[in-house]
Amino acid sequence: MAWWFGIKLWKRVFLGLVLGVIFGLAVSQTMEAAAAEALLEKVRVIGTVFIRLIRMIVVPLVFFTLVAGIYAMGDPKKLGTIGIKAFVLYIFTTFFANLIGLGMGTLFQPGKGVDLGGAEPRQMGEAQPIGERLLGIIPENPFAALVEGDMLAVIFFALLLGVGLLMAREAGQAAGRFFEAGAEGILQMTHIIMELAPFGVFGLIAYVAGTQGVATFTAILSLTLAVYLGCALHMLFVYGGLVRIILRLPFVDFFRGILDPMMVAYSTSSSSATLPVTIRAATENLGIKKSVAGSVLPLGATINMDGTSLYLGIVALFTAQAFGYSLEPQHYFLIALTAALVSIGTAGVPSASLFLLAIVLEVFDVTPEHTALVIGFIFPFDRLLDMMRTVTNVTGDTAVATAVAKWEGELDEDVFRQKPLS
Ligand code: ASP
Repeated sequence: MAWWFGIKLWKRVFLGLVLGVIFGLAVSQTMEAAAAEALLEKVRVIGTVFIRLIRMIVVPLVFFTLVAGIYAMGDPKKLGTIGIKAFVLYIFTTFFANLIGLGMGTLFQPGKGVDLGGAEPRQMGEAQPIGERLLGIIPENPFAALVEGDMLAVIFFALLLGVGLLMAREAGQAAGRFFEAGAEGILQMTHIIMELAPFGVFGLIAYVAGTQGVATFTAILSLTLAVYLGCALHMLFVYGGLVRIILRLPFVDFFRGILDPMMVAYSTSSSSATLPVTIRAATENLGIKKSVAGSVLPLGATINMDGTSLYLGIVALFTAQAFGYSLEPQHYFLIALTAALVSIGTAGVPSASLFLLAIVLEVFDVTPEHTALVIGFIFPFDRLLDMMRTVTNVTGDTAVATAVAKWEGELDEDVFRQKPLS
């Protein structure tokens, strides 16, 4: 066994990813459909166990890390500057995501000539009214918020508790240390859980590749290409540019440091499930101090979704092209704006944004029938697209956290520049 643990974790996870694709495709190509499905379902269970394990620690990790992070800052005023910097960067990066999304949608024309007649219409999700959502950030009962995993409410309560402990000075010290110790303990739990990642990722990817791999690529080839290329360009140039040009940090070290969360995001399609892995990579590989990692990353996983915004722009153009809606210049602007707003309200779980597509399509008066058809058409293939936009979302969160940490003097550059430990 020692040889297995001697291989770096990211390499083992990558191996799981590649073998998963090969296994899934091989099973679906060689076995009879029902038997293949049954086998893939069994393999998927390993993935489900892995997802449940990381999900298990999301809420306690966010709660403890955030309180500990605020406490470690020593000065509640710092919170304001961290928040402002993070928000400015969220908006700045999302702006580029929109530009790239609309560019890709125009270049690839993914909806041109697509026949949606055979699609089974699907109902769209109900978006929570913005006022309600904003009010919901303040939990009536923080314990209920913890139980329900209501992330924004947990973040709000944890922030205030951290500030409260700082204000309590001496009396708050013991509790402050308790949260620091708890955060460290839960972070260590991710080490245990990540040992299962190579197998979990294998199971999840094998299922996706076996049930929709080849079909997706051929059925919606240009849409897939537009989304994948758009996300790749955004990650390389916008996040890469931010890290390299604005922050003057090594580009390769950044991406090497976050390989684990990128791969987990790709296989789980959920930025919120990936959060523990993201926090671990940010603190241990990128050298981001807990005060920033604990605050900027949970917030980012909830509201900063550039991949989602980019994707919604492409799908909006896809719809216009497929049904022949003509778009005026102001429509492009409104699509970008609503896509960005919807991405803020999207939950970090699989396929969340597809069901909020209707809000973006309202911009150019798409009929409810057409909207339901588009959702029904994309839904069976959405997983593959979701995987890529989730990687982008998670990469964006770490890029913003790196920038805020650097500007706040909370980045340990020696750690950033050294090879990841695991
Ligand atoms: N699955 C995405 C995420 O978790 C959200 C989405 O675009 O559907 O980041």
